Amino acid sequence: MTTTDIGGGSREIAIVGGGLGGLTLARVLAVHGIAATVYDQEPGPGARSQGGMLDIHEESGQRALRAAGLLDEFHRIVLPGGDATIVRDRNGTVLHADGGGNGRPEVDRGQLRTLLLDSLPAGSVRWGAKAQAVQARPDGRHEVVFADGSSAVADLVVGADGAWSRVRPLLSAATPGYLGVTFVEIDLLDADARHPAAADVVGAGSLFALGDGRGLLAHRETDGSLHVYAALPVPEGWAAGVDFTDRTAVRDAVLAHFTGWSDRLRALVVEADGPLVPRPLYGLPAGHRWPRVPGVTLLGDAAHLMSPFAGEGANNAMFDGAELGAALAAHRGDVEAALGGYEAAMFPRSAEAAAGSAEGMAMCLAPDAPAGLVAMFSQAA
Ligand SMILES: Cc1cc2nc3c(=O)[nH]c(=O)nc-3n(C[C@H](O)[C@H](O)[C@H](O)COP(=O)(O)OP(=O)(O)OC[C@H]3O[C@@H](n4cnc5c(N)ncnc54)[C@H](O)[C@@H]3O)c2cc1C
Repeated sequence: MTTTDIGGGSREIAIVGGGLGGLTLARVLAVHGIAATVYDQEPGPGARSQGGMLDIHEESGQRALRAAGLLDEFHRIVLPGGDATIVRDRNGTVLHADGGGNGRPEVDRGQLRTLLLDSLPAGSVRWGAKAQAVQARPDGRHEVVFADGSSAVADLVVGADGAWSRVRPLLSAATPGYLGVTFVEIDLLDADARHPAAADVVGAGSLFALGDGRGLLAHRETDGSLHVYAALPVPEGWAAGVDFTDRTAVRDAVLAHFTGWSDRLRALVVEADGPLVPRPLYGLPAGHRWPRVPGVTLLGDAAHLMSPFAGEGANNAMFDGAELGAALAAHRGDVEAALGGYEAAMFPRSAEAAAGSAEGMAMCLAPDAPAGLVAMFSQAA
């Protein structure tokens, strides 16, 4: 593990989790000349596809990238026109359409993660390091114990390990609860050539097709594919009752939730390429917080997992990382002052984002949807 001088001597920082939040923290620390080691459970940087597009908000994600010194590089990977939005009802009727330009450019999550990874000093990330537990030691430091039997001792442990954080139990007894909605992820590859009608329904950026308390949310990806989330109001165990290895059975199970919807919208499910993947949505209670525990904190989903309906989770994870990095740089001789200041600002900020995300989900899945979303867009215009 690399060491640095955050506490007036040689101190070690362990960031558990190399998602967007943990990597932003590592990068901002590096910008300030502070070393840290990121531990991630994945075997390597390309071990799994990183999923869909993210809109990066001016007030959070973009501020974090500025603090990381990566804003220009970020603008180079933005999908031109990807921030356009279309809202349709269950009949496929367009109720709102705009060309974007709202200060929230869309970027491929995998490319953004690569940008952060490539910006770190060599050897900053230890792959294949699945944290199982974190234990307090008598000397006040903490030991991160990994699944392969190895361990790392650190003066500061940051839990950036997402929804099912192994660091969080040191601080809080909270666990994520099911939000009542399961997404099924679907891809339509090479859409303009292979799925022209579906590509036309989605447009250049994002589609929200909503009604009956459910929805088809889709966006265009940088590789020309369409990424679709079928949002289903189903019980927590629904996915376990569907054979996801049988594509026809899954498609039929998803389509059963869109009976009576326009065939142009149902085509986003019918024409699925590759596997369909269930993603039950979980959240921590809005306003989740904990008393200060020396030498440990959380960021991103580990601290404030929320529904994705307001597009806040990744933006907030990155902003947390940037703010924590800046606080540690500003309080080099006093880690507890840095953590206290970071948490004091992060708790209300994430509570507000979580409340907004819950409202966004309720609005999108309301019985009269998409009325609320259309009204929101017309007020913003
Ligand atoms: C379907 C869906 C769509 C979404 N869309 C958006 C969107 O449009 N905009 C937006 O802002 N947010 C969106 N989100 C939310 C966003 O994905 C998360 O808020 C964001 O990824 C959180 O970043 P993070 O770094 O905190 O955690 P994560 O991205 O979850 O990263 C955690 C990292 O920790 C590693 N890890 C996990 N456990 C361990 C362990 N035990 N030991 C070591 N490493 C570990 C993982 O491998 C991973 O690299 C969406 C979420 C979902 C589910």
